Amino acid sequence: MATQITGYKSKAVAAAVALVNAVTTTEGDDSEDALREILRDNEFFWQQLETGDVESFREWGRTLRPFFEAEELMDAAELLNDLMLRIPMHPHISNHEPHGVHMHYAPPSSRLPDRFRAATLMKLSELVCAYGLGRTGVCAADGCDNVYADTSKAGRRRFCSEACANRTNVAAFRARKRTVDDRTA
Ligand SMILES: [Zn+2]
Ligand SMILES: [Zn+2]
Repeated sequence: MATQITGYKSKAVAAAVALVNAVTTTEGDDSEDALREILRDNEFFWQQLETGDVESFREWGRTLRPFFEAEELMDAAELLNDLMLRIPMHPHISNHEPHGVHMHYAPPSSRLPDRFRAATLMKLSELVCAYGLGRTGVCAADGCDNVYADTSKAGRRRFCSEACANRTNVAAFRARKRTVDDRTA
């Protein structure tokens, strides 16, 4: 936890990434069970997910994808600003397990989908204000369309996972070795 630069008491950035990957990628699983698991893994009130809300979560994942694909900071900012005008926001301090005292961004009586939209939007906006687009993007591995957000201190990530980083490094190593072998042959 101490190595995280953002999202203390909030896993909203990680939740946004998981949702975008679940609903917008070729390998993604956007089933109700998978979405419930994303909510549980990221400490949202997953028990409150109703079948009627599933499509609005999928829609939100599709809405956030262009943010991760944006190449210009102001394009990303405009996208987030536009959403912040449309999503009901009413920041207030809440106190509940497992987080203790922390911010809520949606109006107090909001249901889960609105709370999720408001929280993911705010945390992505904070990340962008602090780090520009240097912490988010689409995985650099060939053939992978997952998005990622790097909230580590080092902040040098370009891949969605260790698996993609390793696969790419192995491929680069083989390519280098081939060039050397060709020269020495
Ligand atoms: Zn809360
Ligand atoms: Zn990847």
